[in-house]
Amino acid sequence: MEKIKMTTPIVEMDGDEMTRILWKMIKEHLLEPFIELNTEYYDLGLEHRNETNDQVTVDSANATKKYKVAVKCATITPNAARVEEYNLKEMWKSPNGTIRAILDGTVFRAPIVVKGIEPCVKNWKKPITIARHAYGDVYKNAEMKIPEAGRVELVYTARDGAKTRELVHEFTGPGVVQGMHNISQSIASFARSCFNYALDTRQDLWFATKDTISKKYDHTFKDIFQEIYDAEYAEKFKEAGIVYFYTLIDDAVARVMKSEGGYIWACKNYDGDVMSDMISSAFGSLAMMTSVLVSPDGCYEYEAAHGTVQRHYYKHLAGEETSTNSVATIFAWTGALRKRGELDGNQALTAFADRLEKATIDTIESGEMTKDLALITSLENPTVLNSEDFIKAIAKRL
Ligand code: NAP
Ligand code: MG
Repeated sequence: MEKIKMTTPIVEMDGDEMTRILWKMIKEHLLEPFIELNTEYYDLGLEHRNETNDQVTVDSANATKKYKVAVKCATITPNAARVEEYNLKEMWKSPNGTIRAILDGTVFRAPIVVKGIEPCVKNWKKPITIARHAYGDVYKNAEMKIPEAGRVELVYTARDGAKTRELVHEFTGPGVVQGMHNISQSIASFARSCFNYALDTRQDLWFATKDTISKKYDHTFKDIFQEIYDAEYAEKFKEAGIVYFYTLIDDAVARVMKSEGGYIWACKNYDGDVMSDMISSAFGSLAMMTSVLVSPDGCYEYEAAHGTVQRHYYKHLAGEETSTNSVATIFAWTGALRKRGELDGNQALTAFADRLEKATIDTIESGEMTKDLALITSLENPTVLNSEDFIKAIAKRL
């Protein structure tokens, strides 16, 4: 069989622990036999990040700007324990944070829906994609504990020294206070990424905040979305037959529960953090959740939503058999290959991505799956496969 050729490389970001093991297996059994893989390889494994003083992460993000499409393996975000375990020079920052800061994107997370893994919400038939704004709000806040009675104000000092004040609270006893911010440019990027992704995937877009209570902060998000929609996207949405609508966050939550899915739900940073965990667990498993970072200028970085599955890795190192679910990592590859195919007009590559996804879903639906899915499936007598045999079962179908 002649292998599928690629004209432009994909940026390949290798990672850590169990997902690094899966990465190699996926390439060996599912990709390399069929495609002349053309990737620009960056090793984001923690050891190599440490050796390069994390320059490799920056380089991989810049390469993504150049080639527009990247696929990333899960990586360790070091904490104190990891600094010791890997003898690190520094507690390096989260690679995802670094990449996001360079690409200025929005993260879209969508569950992979298969028969036999039923959502807890019985009317959900199609995936619900969460678009999470990845800048500011409570994640870049300033906080104070107020020890005793006193006045707290917000003070804005303009370049010319002019001050504007807003009373937060006149404390009569101890309490707490928090200041947060966002930037209009970041909100606008968020909005454009959401509108582009909705057009790309031909799904309706919902956006929700609490603008009735937060009349300046949240209202600014609502206004920026509406202005950009009216000026740049209204026509395109009409042509694509999709809808953008804004509603209050509490109304959105109620509607989501009663919906059948099949749309994108754009959330502010905190709402997206919380709601994406709710959506993924209600759809079945974190191991069945894909994630793509989309930048406003059209760069795409695909990955699994889960981490490096450390517990399984230690079992693997101890020589024990593992049954780690590779589906989200496979879909990270298919997402990247399909996008590469679309951008290059490479139909063979796009068709391959579709076929690999179908082979993966068919394998599970026929009853062959990893342990995490076997525990929650409604199929009777599922066959539990180990990490490698599951990938080989997909390869056989492919
Ligand atoms: P995790 O790797 O997502 O794993 C948490 C648990 O979820 C696992 O122990 C496992 O449960 C289950 N699980 C997750 N993915 C699975 C899969 N593919 N197949 C089967 N089970 C799966 O999260 P973590 O243990 O909190 O984090 C480990 C490392 O990943 C950390 O160093 C963290 O920094 C990093 N991380 C990276 C990313 C990223 O690169 N995007 C995201 C999150 C975390 P059982 O043990 O019960 O089987
Ligand atoms: Mg979270």
